[in-house]
Amino acid sequence: MRPVLRNVKSVPLLATIRSRIIGKDILLRLLKITVAFFLLLLAGLSMLAEISSINTDSGASWHQHVAKTLFISLCVCSAYLLLRRPIDPVAEVYCPRCTALGEHAAAPEYGTSVSPMAWHLGGFLLSIFYSGGKQRRFRCRECGELFYSHTAVSRGYRLLFLLFVAIIVNYIWSDLSEVFGE
Ligand SMILES: [Zn+2]
Repeated sequence: MRPVLRNVKSVPLLATIRSRIIGKDILLRLLKITVAFFLLLLAGLSMLAEISSINTDSGASWHQHVAKTLFISLCVCSAYLLLRRPIDPVAEVYCPRCTALGEHAAAPEYGTSVSPMAWHLGGFLLSIFYSGGKQRRFRCRECGELFYSHTAVSRGYRLLFLLFVAIIVNYIWSDLSEVFGE
């Protein structure tokens, strides 16, 4: 009888814990959806502004068009990363030595996670994208090999980092061409 009674007692506790975890997940998901919605709204408005500026104002340089296009893609990519179904980011990591797939232990990394160079060039956002887009260090669960690999999350961050760098390069380029062109 005793084990049965204990089970009956522990079921409501487990249910409470589970519902709390699910509640936290739902809150986080709602927050992500809200941010993604505003990003998509921003992208849509920028797209409308870009279309109307193409139709009416021909004085804008191609740098301005590139900047707007990059900004729109940055918004759409961020929204996509926020909205996509939560996946296990390390499930698709291969060991380069024995090709075992997934479930590798994360190994400690050396050095600072935030690049001082990236911090200096683009500030806070760029350094977050940079450190998020770096390869992660793993220890293989089969053969114990230490290796670096990208995860699904780090690939997304790397894409954001490249888009952000492209925006900065385009901005500097347009400034320089204005200085030397006139
Ligand atoms: Zn291995």
